[in-house]
Amino acid sequence: MTSQQVPFQFSKQVLAWFDEHGRKHLPWQQNKSRYSVWVSEIMLQQTQVKTVIPYFTKFMEKFPSITDLANAEQDQVLHLWTGLGYYARARNLHKAAQIVRDNYNGEFPATFDEVLGLPGIGKSTAAAVLSLANNQAYVIMDGNVKRVLARFYTIEGWPGNKKVEDSLWELAESLKPSERYGDYTQAMMDLGATLCTRSKPNCDECPVQSHCMAFAQGVQAEYPHKKPKKQIPVKTTKMVIPFYQGRVLMTKRPQSGIWGGLWGFYESSDTSQLPAHIQQLINNSATKLEALSPFRHTFSHFHLDIQPELMILGAAPSNNVNEPTIVDDENQQLWFDVHQASEVGLAAPTVKIFKQLQTMF
Ligand code: SF4
Repeated sequence: MTSQQVPFQFSKQVLAWFDEHGRKHLPWQQNKSRYSVWVSEIMLQQTQVKTVIPYFTKFMEKFPSITDLANAEQDQVLHLWTGLGYYARARNLHKAAQIVRDNYNGEFPATFDEVLGLPGIGKSTAAAVLSLANNQAYVIMDGNVKRVLARFYTIEGWPGNKKVEDSLWELAESLKPSERYGDYTQAMMDLGATLCTRSKPNCDECPVQSHCMAFAQGVQAEYPHKKPKKQIPVKTTKMVIPFYQGRVLMTKRPQSGIWGGLWGFYESSDTSQLPAHIQQLINNSATKLEALSPFRHTFSHFHLDIQPELMILGAAPSNNVNEPTIVDDENQQLWFDVHQASEVGLAAPTVKIFKQLQTMF
């Protein structure tokens, strides 16, 4: 049989290309363990290989085992992450290491569901760790794979859309080889990173070019489709935060409308027009005003730019109560301890403001 007569098999082509051209000397490909592959996969999220290499090397020198990582102070972990960005990755890595130390005797779990249950690990990362480190039969769905498959099949729609992503997962499963799962995972990452690149893909060298629909139609640049841009209006608000000795005055929002029934801060676009009882608080006390960091909260139909304003009261408020108090027909108010406010329903921006306050007081 000549090579032209061999039926096309996606994974076979990709693996044969990998054997010749794939990357095999990256630091996390040496002495592989589920721990080292996991660390590399987390670092590689939103970050390029060449940036990750020195960080990975230092990290593994400092924390050669998952127990070393679990026993470290969070500050040490964040310190080694400085400059990599997306610090939630480091905090989750640290948290997950402690779970592995406490619940799995320091042995990184080897079943998909257990791995997926660790903080900061999604379906694709779990699949990457288990296929790369253990050659288990899982396929991944990172940005590289999405790009290759969206082009290969000319998939319509933005891959971040759940339906589009689900169909990409199905296609990825259907292409899965029957062996060499780890090599195949690495091969797909390499194919996306070195040939099927975002701009100017090198289709001439591509092992699946003969069946690639985007190549056949000359439309590689159109795939994957970009995230649809929505023009949504921007609104602004001030959140007024009376503060006295570690406590803030909050109100329960009306049941209907945005954040209905949640506790939050009084909103006003004009701080000279505050509700009478807040104005009274301020008038009765030498109040110091302090603007906190502004931030944007995005709803599906508008952005809300929020400016939190702290009003530090100089004297004890007369209504320093521990029970919710009705202040008018609709609103209840309560003084909350900024460090103990998590047991009530809080809107996301309120949580953000509490976080700012917790770092200040
Ligand atoms: Fe990507 Fe080109 Fe290969 Fe198609 S032929 S998968 S567009 S590199």
